[in-house]
Amino acid sequence: MDLYLGIDIGGTAVKLGLIDSQARLLARHEASVSFDAYKTPISLTVQTAARAFLQQEQLAPEALCGIGVAATGQIDSLLGVVAGTCGNLPDWEQTPLKQELEACFGRPVTVANDANCMCLGEGWVGRAVGCPNYLGLTIGTGIGGGIVSGGRLIEGARGLGGETGHIRTHAITGRLCTCGGRGCWEQYASATALVKQAQALDKSLRNARQVFAAAPANPALDHLLDDWITEIAAGIVGLVHIFNPELILIGGGVSQQTERLILPLARQVQAAVMPAFARGLRLEAASLRNDAGMIGAVRYFIQRQLTS
Ligand SMILES: [Zn+2]
Repeated sequence: MDLYLGIDIGGTAVKLGLIDSQARLLARHEASVSFDAYKTPISLTVQTAARAFLQQEQLAPEALCGIGVAATGQIDSLLGVVAGTCGNLPDWEQTPLKQELEACFGRPVTVANDANCMCLGEGWVGRAVGCPNYLGLTIGTGIGGGIVSGGRLIEGARGLGGETGHIRTHAITGRLCTCGGRGCWEQYASATALVKQAQALDKSLRNARQVFAAAPANPALDHLLDDWITEIAAGIVGLVHIFNPELILIGGGVSQQTERLILPLARQVQAAVMPAFARGLRLEAASLRNDAGMIGAVRYFIQRQLTS
């Protein structure tokens, strides 16, 4: 049996999974990367967690065909290096993940952006199976994106492609973004943006789930939700006109809100794109949820092995 280690590195946790060539998740493990306020570099925590996981599964690294890593940030997937960050993850930028993990485990490693991996995971065993042209958008702290066109992940020159959250939908008078720009899409359409605005109406709201729960009894909040959906739709409409996808998958915690997000968003996008682009276009919630990143990371690894 071909066995792979899938690793999904986020800002607060690392998820690890033992995955076979049929995308079956045989075992999983999760560890905090922020337990000591990042005094231990994330990459070191990942190595420790991976070693412990393999030990727990009684597997030597030699038993693995390889290691696929999905990582937060701008990932240079040619070199397997963290090429940029917009947030405040200390010591994350310039981390040579591929080199470090290959030295640690003696197995080949690929590293790709987490949203790109989510997108590939959905194409492997999720909602986008058999679909050669689709977008995967993760709505959370920011907006992550993955674009598959003609069956191929669009990565660009250095693997940085698909950074959809920084499309400037409000370029002139927009809010400042963590990237240093102004008016980026994610400043209006991320879950963070929703919660920030909702807190101006009701300080007690702490997360998007609470905003959705409170909206039916609060007309101002309900209106805010409508505006937020319009902001999400605005970015998606632009992407649809560029890539002409047949499917758009929405990931992130908010994607569980079928009635109050997915369905109205699908209707808005359908109505706003040029008619020829709307034909056959579907917008749905992604299906793999928390495991999408590590499953997609292994898919990325296998595809890279096949093409190199
Ligand atoms: Zn930005």
